[in-house]
Amino acid sequence: MTLASLRRQLVAGEITSAGILHHLSGEIAIRDGRTAAYLSHDLEGALAEAARVDLSLPLGGIPIAIKDNMNVLGQPCTCGSKVLSENYRSPYDATVIRKLRDAGAIPFGRMNQDEFAMGSSTENSALQATRNPHDPARIPGGSSGGSAAAVADGTAIAALGSDTGGSVRQPASHCGVVGLKPSYGRVSRYGLVAFASSLDQIGPLTQTVEDAALVLQAIAGFDPFDSTSLDVPVPDYLCSLHDGVKGLRLGVPKEYFGEGIDPGVRRNVEAAIQNLAGQGAEIVSISLPHAGHAVATYYVIAPAEASSNLSRFDGIRYGHRSGTSCDILDLYKKSREEGFGAEVKRRIILGTYVLSSGYYDAYYGRAQKVRTLIRRDFETAFRQVDAILSPVAPTPARKIGAFANDPLHEYLSDIFTLSANLAGIPGISVPCGVADFDGGIALPVGLHILGPHLGEARLLQIAQAVETRVGA
Ligand code: GLN
Repeated sequence: MTLASLRRQLVAGEITSAGILHHLSGEIAIRDGRTAAYLSHDLEGALAEAARVDLSLPLGGIPIAIKDNMNVLGQPCTCGSKVLSENYRSPYDATVIRKLRDAGAIPFGRMNQDEFAMGSSTENSALQATRNPHDPARIPGGSSGGSAAAVADGTAIAALGSDTGGSVRQPASHCGVVGLKPSYGRVSRYGLVAFASSLDQIGPLTQTVEDAALVLQAIAGFDPFDSTSLDVPVPDYLCSLHDGVKGLRLGVPKEYFGEGIDPGVRRNVEAAIQNLAGQGAEIVSISLPHAGHAVATYYVIAPAEASSNLSRFDGIRYGHRSGTSCDILDLYKKSREEGFGAEVKRRIILGTYVLSSGYYDAYYGRAQKVRTLIRRDFETAFRQVDAILSPVAPTPARKIGAFANDPLHEYLSDIFTLSANLAGIPGISVPCGVADFDGGIALPVGLHILGPHLGEARLLQIAQAVETRVGA
């Protein structure tokens, strides 16, 4: 039941949008107790929208699940946090939601996530722990874990996630679905609750590459409400989808194939690269000399921006308000102390520290300089190659709870994805096989494809070649 096939059946009159919604709602009732991907869903509201929907539009009648950090008018938007779970209702539609509606889609379902998108496992949600549909003892990845798990589990057709350092691509890889992080500025962030504003992007999680192209087509484009969105035309992402990889030059960075990669991940990624070579791509060994600094750079810049963005949750206008405070300062302190979880507090403390006077130049200023070097590495590489290939994550999905007391280890799991956000370039995760892991459980592995700024069409084209070959 891909988005594309459902669209054909809708247009042919074989099914109805209400029928799809009832089917999903039945699947959620049967399956979501196991995966816990949904925080909430409003069937009645969605059915009312389905009754009015224009089926001639590109996504006409298709329900799309939404990560719980994007505003949908009248719906909850908890960001996986106690801070917003008590009484916040969205007063407006995010631009991506308006664009989905303009394309005929119906936002349906609020998907679990790490609190304020900080994490790689969805274990940091203050509300519930989402499980990987391939093995419920394991994480779905994160932070868009609910979105990825639902698409993999058949309880959603397609979903939106947000990606600040890998949060669309990594859960897509762990759950065996397609996840695309567009270039910075390609998709409006207006109405996405900000984590790190210079890194955040919204992207689709789908069952197929074609579906990812369809959703990106709908949400991409300039938005006067987001000053960082780019006023450049959106290409047709579908017309080059099946052009193949013959003659393309694909770079394999030596820095991304060193130690610490699980053998099953390595085997599947290398096999996918060989497949692409077999389809006529030229594989080129390249170097990204500053790749080793990406984790440190990200974990200065992202917390710095987060500490600033999250200052609005003070219990006055937004968020949980402590009932026991005696004065205004005490109110701020207690509201934030009670509302935020441990990882969010860690980021706020880290971010405040690196921005404080005396440390600003040593940490934040230097991180910005290294960020420039990382971006230049990619600019240099893309003069030689059309795209870059790597694993998405060093290991398949790990067991729930395995890194409970080891945040640093957790941060290292983002080692291949963070650079794309630091450089502002697009990246896609496409399933490339399964690793037999820990007693023979088959766990999905994703191939990571990175492209130059605004090179989404090319990424989708290469990902389509991977999907076709894996499927064949
Ligand atoms: N795992 C990374 C972090 O915790 C990235 C999260 C994301 O992309 N939202 O910051």
